[in-house]
Amino acid sequence: MKQYKYLLSEKDMPTQWYNILADMKNPPPPYLHPATLNLMTPDDLASVFPTGCVAQETSRERFIDIPEEVQDIFRMYRPTPLIRAHRWEKALDTPAKIYYKWEGASPTGSHKLNTAIAQAYYAKQEGLTGFATETGAGQWGCALSLAGSYFGLKIKVFMVAVSYRQKPYRRVMMETWGGEVVPSPSAETHAGRAMLEQDPDTPGSLGMAISDALEYAMTHDGYKYSLGSVVNFVLLHQTIIGLETMKQLEMAGDSPDIVIGCAGGGSNAAGLIYPFMRHKLTGETPNLRAIFVESTACPSMTRGTYAYDWGDTAKTGPVTKMHTVGHGFVPAPVHAGGLRYHGIAPTISSLLNDGMAEARAYHQNAAFEATLSFSNAEGTILAPETAHAVRAAYDEALACKEAGESKVIVFNASGHGHFDLAAYDAYHRRALDDYELEEAKLAAALEGLPNVK
Ligand SMILES: *Cc1c(COP(=O)(O)O)cnc(C)c1O
Repeated sequence: MKQYKYLLSEKDMPTQWYNILADMKNPPPPYLHPATLNLMTPDDLASVFPTGCVAQETSRERFIDIPEEVQDIFRMYRPTPLIRAHRWEKALDTPAKIYYKWEGASPTGSHKLNTAIAQAYYAKQEGLTGFATETGAGQWGCALSLAGSYFGLKIKVFMVAVSYRQKPYRRVMMETWGGEVVPSPSAETHAGRAMLEQDPDTPGSLGMAISDALEYAMTHDGYKYSLGSVVNFVLLHQTIIGLETMKQLEMAGDSPDIVIGCAGGGSNAAGLIYPFMRHKLTGETPNLRAIFVESTACPSMTRGTYAYDWGDTAKTGPVTKMHTVGHGFVPAPVHAGGLRYHGIAPTISSLLNDGMAEARAYHQNAAFEATLSFSNAEGTILAPETAHAVRAAYDEALACKEAGESKVIVFNASGHGHFDLAAYDAYHRRALDDYELEEAKLAAALEGLPNVK
């Protein structure tokens, strides 16, 4: 009898996160202050993020305990299933074994709740009253709104204007969980007003919304800023995904040849990949391939520069060394596939630079084509972001068929696509453009990088 689902019991849920900084040959260099470009002290960082998270940001401890109260909430939806895609393997006629980790099982529908709960816990510990944050399509705003509700925190969400106007349902979800949502750029902040003055009809961008949220947090008592991706502590919180997957693959008697995740800022991909990367870094699994997949519409890893850049458009947030297409980058509004952040996590950048991981980019139509083949075999309709990881798994499975190799492929199914059906509709109507960032636009966006010696 074929086994599809590998399920861990609640008592087998990992009780520690894995910190890749303990094993990296070249940990990323420290953050710089946005105004002075001097080294940012922990105190500087603690004026932005909860102090519990700041301690984790630079920790070199290999394993960090997950607080009991966080574990307790996790157990409402974790461990999430690892599923063998038997029917998709058959549809692709591949000898490869394909597994996917199902993070869409969380109440908000994606992996983002994993770090939202942890951050809300540390905020509450510290006596904060609320968080300000940004959201693109709304997954992060939903996750933080629910986490705020669990811990009694106020959540102010600056939502990228084009999404605010075109995607009402996630806004309604955020409001249902008590979040307060405004479009970004916002007239409530100096940064937002300045951006609106420049272009009143701007579709907004994640970089602009981060500026709004940072300023709001700095100017409201009891508030700090919460970030849903990119920084070390967020990726740390997501490693529960890969730690569970390791136990589940053990149950299945398999070990992965290829691990895959889609990457906006990099958190879900790192969450799956880093616990496996640990053994590649220590030389135990030198042949493991780790693939981070982005969108051709926002190609930070495949066409960006590895350099210091601001994390936000108004240059108010920490300056980090990462692969970037420039903090002034505004993604094409026609692009429906998500993964729009201008940079990528500093740890992923360093691993790419060291040749420990691979990056690739897909057009959205290619991503949708693969994820439709997945959905018709397996059932689940995945988020457009996730579809990029699916495309990579699809291509690797077909390469296995070509080579007659039975590799074990694992990808992170980061979330469901139930609120992204407009993008699916556009795909069905052949109305999705394969947008490729123009060379001139990229060069212009890169001109604004800070001059760091
Ligand atoms: C936000 C999101 C992503 C991209 O963010 P990462 O930090 O790169 O993981 C991918 N998939 C889903 C479902 C998301 O909600």
